Amino acid sequence: WNTLHTPIKEPKVDGLVRPGDKLAGSSKACFLCLVRNEDLDGIIGSIQELEEQFNEDFNYPYVFLNDGKFTKDFKDAIRKALPRGRKIEFGSIEPSLWDMPSNIDENEFKEHMEKLSGIQHADQLSYHNMCRFYSKSFYHHPLLKKYKYAWRVEPGVHFYCKVEYDVFQFMQMNDKIYGYVLNLYDSPESIETLWTKTFDFLQENPHYLNENCAHEWVRDNVQKPDNYDVTQGYSTCHFWTNFEITDMDWLRGPIYEAYMEFLDSQKGFYYERWGDAPVRSLALALFADKGRIHWFRDIAYSHFPYTNCPSCPEGSERCNGDCRPGFFVPWENLEIENCQATWIKYSMDQKDLDMY
Ligand code: GDP
Ligand code: MN
Repeated sequence: WNTLHTPIKEPKVDGLVRPGDKLAGSSKACFLCLVRNEDLDGIIGSIQELEEQFNEDFNYPYVFLNDGKFTKDFKDAIRKALPRGRKIEFGSIEPSLWDMPSNIDENEFKEHMEKLSGIQHADQLSYHNMCRFYSKSFYHHPLLKKYKYAWRVEPGVHFYCKVEYDVFQFMQMNDKIYGYVLNLYDSPESIETLWTKTFDFLQENPHYLNENCAHEWVRDNVQKPDNYDVTQGYSTCHFWTNFEITDMDWLRGPIYEAYMEFLDSQKGFYYERWGDAPVRSLALALFADKGRIHWFRDIAYSHFPYTNCPSCPEGSERCNGDCRPGFFVPWENLEIENCQATWIKYSMDQKDLDMY
């Protein structure tokens, strides 16, 4: 843990692909922005910072998705905000990938929502649709089929430091299927039965459990014992998916798909408020080799209110004032929401630590 407070500029591995190298920009990868027309200003801010810190040197394409239809003004403004020649695609989402599925009863949904009224976004149908879409559908969208990796980008996020290597090539060369920067506890009331249902699925399919998986990470109850009580066994630790780089071929594989079909049949995307973050995280923690999940400690990122800031040397040009080393959240009492130490404890071996 101590070594993790030393400055880091990039992973300490051989073979990082630099701007201008033959392989630079050659992964089957894109940035994925799920947004509405009204998110225009927020997403422009995000992608301009991303371009400046990373993509001006690598030229990866963008896919913008919307359950509605993008206006001409939206598309024009995005094209104008990005460098000339950048490949940009805009797509709508088929109702079959987005809308509430037919196994959900609308009245029952409303009754459950009243009970969950204390939970953020629980009363918004669109939020439930979004969480289900990001859990089980996005990687089936026709515009994403040609890609292996998607780097998810949300409106209003920040990238503070220059990333001077091809992140997608790094994932490919080091056999990573998932990259994240922040790791948090969740509101347990939103996922009361997610763990017990997942446990049912595991009992039916014990062979799906990966023998080198990160199950301790989702079972550690030290920091937040109450969460463990509410969920009957899940720590609620999860990768914060507003930043995530996914290997969609892994999501498209039989195990993840079977898990998604099962969860959908259990109705918790609507009768509870299962987020895509705990869903993805449980899938990764149980069905993936933990060595294939990568913490991008070097990528300085924030989505309000949390920040991942690599410990840059004082006065470093790579970091600006908002990214203070070790700074996770502006309010000290929320430090307890950080679950990264648990990940390090259970899921990193010496070889991983040496990379940081
Ligand atoms: P939060 O970060 O959990 O508060 O959720 P956000 O409001 O940021 O939503 C997560 C992502 O989904 C963002 O990229 C939003 O722009 C997008 N999103 C959320 N709801 C909708 C929706 O109804 N339609 C579309 N097209 N995008 C949505
Ligand atoms: Mn968000």
